[in-house]
This record gives sequence, structure tokens and C-alpha cells, in this order.
Amino acid sequence: MRQIKFTNGITLNPGKIIGLGRNYLDHIRELGNAVPDRAVIFCKPQSSLLENGGTIILPDFAQECHHELELAVVIGKSGKKIAAADALDHVTGYAVALDLTLRDLQTQLKEKGLPWEIAKGFDTSCPLSDVVPADQVATPNNLELQLKVNGLIRQQGNTAQMMRSIEEIIAEISIYFTLEPGDIILTGTPAGVAKLNSGDTLEGSIDQVGTLTVEVA
Ligand code: MG
Repeated sequence: MRQIKFTNGITLNPGKIIGLGRNYLDHIRELGNAVPDRAVIFCKPQSSLLENGGTIILPDFAQECHHELELAVVIGKSGKKIAAADALDHVTGYAVALDLTLRDLQTQLKEKGLPWEIAKGFDTSCPLSDVVPADQVATPNNLELQLKVNGLIRQQGNTAQMMRSIEEIIAEISIYFTLEPGDIILTGTPAGVAKLNSGDTLEGSIDQVGTLTVEVA
């Protein structure tokens, strides 16, 4: 994906993709992880982006690729150490995203205390819908999310269940990284993550934001 497309026709060059782990308590529990004091932050490369309608290519270096449905926040204005009260001024839009994760490889790397970027950043690991302009979303902190795989509901949640609000996420990430126009933040996933199989069709939807449809090769 060379450009981020908006529903109103504008485009933006994609910047860095920053993922947040362990932001929904029910998902933390299903993986047996601890609740983090500090946000769990990782990056996915731009080459992981996949546009709406695209095809996920499962890598041959892992066996278990999990879907994680997430609200994506697209940054429109640069900032460093952004105050939570100003955070939404830096957001230009929202999208439906999947943070695909090679769970078996990630688990092996975590056990060894190694970084798990290669479990998160493979080609096509970040499907992204068209972006809805921020002024069309009343509040990003109360949106219903749903993921269907082959027509059956697998993940369901609401961004109100996030442990950190969108404002708090932006404030915390911008302590570490300057946020720039085109940067994409993946805000964590609710419970229900599971393995994808060849031929699966995924349909993610978020109220007021839209729908993302992709299939697995
Ligand atoms: Mg995730």
C-alpha cells in the first residue's frame, strides 16, 4: 500500500505503524499476560500494510497466524510529548485494522526474552480500511468493534473497554516517538483472537468508521 486512502478522496503517505499491546483486559487474560504499568509498544514496517480487499499471505516461517481486530488512529499533525488534553487535535482519521500476529513465533521469542518484531511485521500483516475523517467520529472511546471470519463472529468488543483511552495512548507514545502525519497507531485488540487458515474471509467492522474485508490466500 503506497498511500493511505480516505473516504473523502484525500490521500496521505503512510508513516510509521505503532502497535499497542495488552490494551483490553479480556485479551490480556485470554493470553495469560500481565497487566502492563507502561504501554506495550512495538512497530510494524510500512511493507506490512495491505489495502481493503487485499489478500493475506501467510508466511512459511510460522504455523499460527492470529487475527487481532483493532481501531487504527491516523495522525495528521506532528507532535512530541503531546498532552492528553490536546491529543485528538493530532488525529486526522480512523480506520479498521488487523494486527496479524504469528503467535507461535511470538511466544518462542518472548520466552527467550527476544524482540518479537518478526512475528508482527511480515508482509500483509497490517490490513487497513479506508480512513474516515476524524470529524465524522463522535468519540473514538466508545465504538463497537466486530470481526467475522467466514461469516461467524470471532471478536466483539467496544473501545470503551480499552485500558488506555485514545488520548492517553497518543500522550504515552509521543513520549518515546515524535508522531508525524501519516503515522498509524493500532490501539489493541479485544478477546477472541484465533488462528487463520488458508481461504478464510475476514470482515472487520467498527461503528462510524467502516468495514475492512480481506481474505487469506
Ligand atoms: Mg494487537
